[in-house]
Amino acid sequence: MTKTIAVVGSCMIDSIVYSSRLPKPGETLLGSKYEQGFGGKGANQCVTAARLGASTIFITSLGSDKIGQSYLEKLKQENIDISYAKIQNNSHTGVAQIIVTETGENSIVIVQGSNALLSVKDVIDARQKIQSASVLLCQFETSLEPILEALTIYQGHGTSIVNGAPAVSNVDPNIFKLSDIFCVNETEAEIMTGIQCITISNAQKAIDKLFSLGCNTVIITFGAEGAVHATQNNKKLVHTSTEILKAVDTTGAGDAFLGALAYYITYHSNLSLEECIRRSNRIAAQSVLKAGTQTSLPYRKDLPIELF
Ligand code: ATP
Repeated sequence: MTKTIAVVGSCMIDSIVYSSRLPKPGETLLGSKYEQGFGGKGANQCVTAARLGASTIFITSLGSDKIGQSYLEKLKQENIDISYAKIQNNSHTGVAQIIVTETGENSIVIVQGSNALLSVKDVIDARQKIQSASVLLCQFETSLEPILEALTIYQGHGTSIVNGAPAVSNVDPNIFKLSDIFCVNETEAEIMTGIQCITISNAQKAIDKLFSLGCNTVIITFGAEGAVHATQNNKKLVHTSTEILKAVDTTGAGDAFLGALAYYITYHSNLSLEECIRRSNRIAAQSVLKAGTQTSLPYRKDLPIELF
């Protein structure tokens, strides 16, 4: 096994327009600003780990458009192994069309594009690289068949982390069973467990439900309140709080948390899970201090030495 993190997941181009309010159906509004940025949960998590100094390989699927090519260049610049990042013929790169209002409200439409074409075969082609990684990290922004395949071929090799985002109901129970760590935020936990208004005080109920669905270790993130976790051996939840920071833009905080968690499990395997979560909270907190998604993900050189 090599100290590498294999990420199987999505790339999206975030296309963000800013306006005073959300348009009504049929209405056209004059916006104030437009930005385009590299995003997608798979890419964001992989970039976080790479910026912390991890060796990473990214199994992903990009469009045959100009954006697909520039995304490949971007991943190369981040020192990510892209030998299994595939350009799909006759498809466009995934896109997230985002409207952000002055009050911070947003509305998002995602079109998966080439992410939907990531196939079981693409994962099988990367089998050796996946099996030799210390950590396998997956999300739900591609179709789920290749994710299940990656988890299946990785079984018995290292630590698999599944970020159940965006939330999907009726997930194949094998995905829960094959994930060593299953991580969601509180809203995703609500959708996946059917329990409403999950807070830290009733999170045990959601964790127990996720255990009953087949999960092994569960982590639920709670924004500025940090995260809770529980394991099969110690089912009572542990809350790891964090320093509350005034957020400029929380987009990507969850991805920063997951990328950091994969980094700590790979490179600081002597640390307890609780300590890995405490440090991942601190990395994720850094990402809320800047606008944008990948633009806000921190670099190791800018972080306090005690985190390493
Ligand atoms: P996103 O906004 O990217 O969708 P998310 O909803 O998936 O994020 P959150 O639970 O909001 O994920 O945040 C993930 C982690 O980021 C938290 O567990 C925490 O460590 C950190 N975090 C988020 N907001 C703050 C904040 N205001 N201050 C400090 N840490 C924060």
